[in-house]
Amino acid sequence: MSEAPRPLLALSRAELKERVLELGGRAFHAKIAREALFAGARSYTEMTSLPAALREALQAEVPLLSSELRHSTRAKDGATKLLLGFPGRDRGSDEVETVHIPPHNPKSPKGATLCVSTQVGCPVACPFCASGLAGLVRNLGPHEVIEQFLRGLEVGKIGRAVVMGIGEPLLNYKSVRAALEVVNEELGIGARKVTLSTVGFPERLREVAPTKPPFQLAISLHTPFDGERDVLVPAMKGVPIEEVLAAGDHWYRETHREVTYEYVLLGGYNDTARHAAELGRRLRGRRATVNLIPWNPLTKAPGDDPLPSYKRPHAEAVAAFQEDVQAAGTVTTVRWSRGLESDAACGQLRLHS
Ligand code: SAH
Repeated sequence: MSEAPRPLLALSRAELKERVLELGGRAFHAKIAREALFAGARSYTEMTSLPAALREALQAEVPLLSSELRHSTRAKDGATKLLLGFPGRDRGSDEVETVHIPPHNPKSPKGATLCVSTQVGCPVACPFCASGLAGLVRNLGPHEVIEQFLRGLEVGKIGRAVVMGIGEPLLNYKSVRAALEVVNEELGIGARKVTLSTVGFPERLREVAPTKPPFQLAISLHTPFDGERDVLVPAMKGVPIEEVLAAGDHWYRETHREVTYEYVLLGGYNDTARHAAELGRRLRGRRATVNLIPWNPLTKAPGDDPLPSYKRPHAEAVAAFQEDVQAAGTVTTVRWSRGLESDAACGQLRLHS
């Protein structure tokens, strides 16, 4: 069986140049094709500054994109969820979602935030999150991460990105890093505009911190108690929270950028005064902020599995928790997710696909 042709962004710039020369073009034609793709071209036919024969050859030999847009849903608050599929692979089990979230104030010059996925499925299996309920299918390649940006740009301008879609980015780090370098250089979305969220494998963070990472770091903590974190973040079972926090401190020393700790608030479970006090105690004196995310309920589990039975916390409980952590000395913000009614909010990705 012959191998499927590699799409344009799966080729390095040098490889694309070589391919173009083989197909009878000139070296600079490779640059034109790549730039046209980033500028919005969605077929070689549109690239009229390339010779017609080369356009035809590229059409036959180098697919312009590997993904197709299978569905898009726009929530009332403006968040647009895109379902991308990868033709040639199993339908239904090989799709990811990307969410384009416009700024609250439509006149804001900030531009929208794009939430990108890094894996098909997720191996971490947090019991409150839809993305990992059916395990990991595969890692995305760098080009598949970059293509999410190109699809997002079809919805509107993008000023920021959060690597907070489906998947655990540190378990597919090589591809994620390669993609973010391109996003940084060729789409002009700089390191301070990109936030990567991870469950925080300490040894991986220690490896990455000294390498000038092209993003800000967010670590999903979810509880200050070790035994409880083993349940909420199963892939981190046995890793003491103190080691995760120490890796966060190391990150700050290496990058001079503060770490955000994410904390999904599950009503009546990890939103108690005891949790707030212990979280405050753990973070006291550390350069970090806490981002509270009131839990977004899941509406459909894979197959006939039961839905997780967590509760969305009451607004008063969220406010009290925030106040307690702030009082203990750590800056705390709350993220009431957008896109809730169309399953485009945090932790809801990969439902109804
Ligand atoms: N795998 C990465 C990125 C996940 S998404 C990570 O775990 O950090 C970003 C945040 O949304 C994480 O903190 C994640 O735990 C949280 N989240 C997952 N499911 C959620 C849900 N149903 N409601 C609210 N937040 C959720």
